[in-house]
Amino acid sequence: MTNKYMYFIANWKMFGTLKSVNSLSKVIKYTNSLTNRKFKLIYCPPFTLLDKFNNKLKNTNIEIGGQNCHHSDGFGSFTGFVSPKMLKDCGAKYVILGHSENRQIGENDKIINLKIKNCLKNNLKVILCVGETFIEKKQKKTKQIISSQIIKGLKKIKDTKNIIIAYEPVWSIGTGKLISTDELSYLIEYIKKILKSRYKIKKTKVLYGGSVKTKNIDQLKKIDILDGFLIGGASRNPQNLIDIVKKSYI
Ligand code: PEP
Repeated sequence: MTNKYMYFIANWKMFGTLKSVNSLSKVIKYTNSLTNRKFKLIYCPPFTLLDKFNNKLKNTNIEIGGQNCHHSDGFGSFTGFVSPKMLKDCGAKYVILGHSENRQIGENDKIINLKIKNCLKNNLKVILCVGETFIEKKQKKTKQIISSQIIKGLKKIKDTKNIIIAYEPVWSIGTGKLISTDELSYLIEYIKKILKSRYKIKKTKVLYGGSVKTKNIDQLKKIDILDGFLIGGASRNPQNLIDIVKKSYI
């Protein structure tokens, strides 16, 4: 994996206050110190911090993204929501969509598909999360769930160059439980096969997310076909995030 261009997505979920922006200094110092940066680091803080993060990360090569957005395009009477256009206005270049924490509270593939279309229209790159629950895994439905979420999520989307897929087994998110290296390699390959055969895309990035930590990155980085990681809990600690990036290249 050492020579590959990798993506590291830091998903802060519903954590962080205005003061949290200070924790970025250490990460900025680290990335600035590198002469040959072969990775893209993207922070996805809560909406309330996007503008702050954007200002702090100006003149660095770290980018920002939203953690979700409304399914309509621009502005409207949707109390409590944020649109793709508003994310863009805050400096976001990316958006995480279809995260299992949102699927669990009712977000379905149809809505996710609409969100993807409107995000692409607003020139946001989409990180589409897919993955099975523990029960679905036990029922041996993993491949069925993954392919259905990809196919329905990308329905009638022709231009897929701005789509990144994040495979995140739901049972692994925030639990410390890790999928086996063999199973993960197999599933990433399976996802790449779907993308290649259905959408004729050879180069779509496929990431892994689910309890990625400094202690298991040595194991995960062995999976050559992975294009990076979506990191939740561990990404809020600057040293842990630096170590995950660093270790991925050793
Ligand atoms: C996530 O937020 O998608 C995630 C994978 O979280 P964690 O790394 O904490 O499991």
